[in-house]
Amino acid sequence: MAKRLEGSGLMSLTYASLVRIEAFIGSLVSEWIEPHEGSRGGAPQKPLIAQLYEYSMTMTSKAGSGHSTNKPESRPPGNQIAMYLVDQITEEARELYERFSVAFNDNVRASSIAWYVLADLLHYCRQAVNGDIVSLYPLIRDVEHASAQWVKQVRILLKYDVREIILGEVSCHVCGGKLAVAEDASTDVRCIDSSCAEVYPRSQWVQMLADGA
Ligand SMILES: [Zn+2]
Repeated sequence: MAKRLEGSGLMSLTYASLVRIEAFIGSLVSEWIEPHEGSRGGAPQKPLIAQLYEYSMTMTSKAGSGHSTNKPESRPPGNQIAMYLVDQITEEARELYERFSVAFNDNVRASSIAWYVLADLLHYCRQAVNGDIVSLYPLIRDVEHASAQWVKQVRILLKYDVREIILGEVSCHVCGGKLAVAEDASTDVRCIDSSCAEVYPRSQWVQMLADGA
C-alpha cells in the first residue's frame, strides 16, 4: 500500500484520517452512538469529556459521605485519574493546535478548556484537508494517532472497553507476531501485527494457550 502513496491516493488516505478524527473528537465533545453491539449500544451517549467530569464527581461524593466532601485531601484517586486524563488530553490537543497555528500563521492561542481546544483542533484538520495542504498531512496523521489514543484511554477508564494485555507465552500461528487479549479474558485473542490481524475466537484460544505452553 505504501508504494501507491502518491497524488490522489495520499489525499484520499488523508481524507480517511479526517473521517476518523471527526469520529474520535466527535465522541469526546458531542453525543455519540456506540457503534458495536453491547449493553450500551444504540442509545445516544453523552460526550466522553462530560462523562469524565461526571465520573470524577461521582467518585468524590461517594467517598465524602460526611460533612467534608469539599476537602481536596479527601478526594479519592478515581477523581484525580479522570481529571488528570482531561488535563492530559487538553495539553496534547493544545500542542497539536499550536503546530497548526504556526503553519497557518494565526496568532490565536489555544484554549485551555478541553471542549474548545478539541473543537478548534478539529476545525484546523478540516481546513487543512479541505484546502489540500499536503505539507500538513503528517500533522493530520499525528492528530489521528493522538485522538485515537485519547478515546481509547477514556473508554477504558469509563469501562466501555477493557484494557488489553499482550500474551507472553504464545505467538501468532500465522505470522509469529504478538497476541493480545482483554485483561479480563472476555474477548477473542487477536494478532497485533496490523498486516496480519488474525483473530482466534475465544472458544479456541484456551486450547491454543495449552498447546503453546
Ligand atoms: Zn499474526
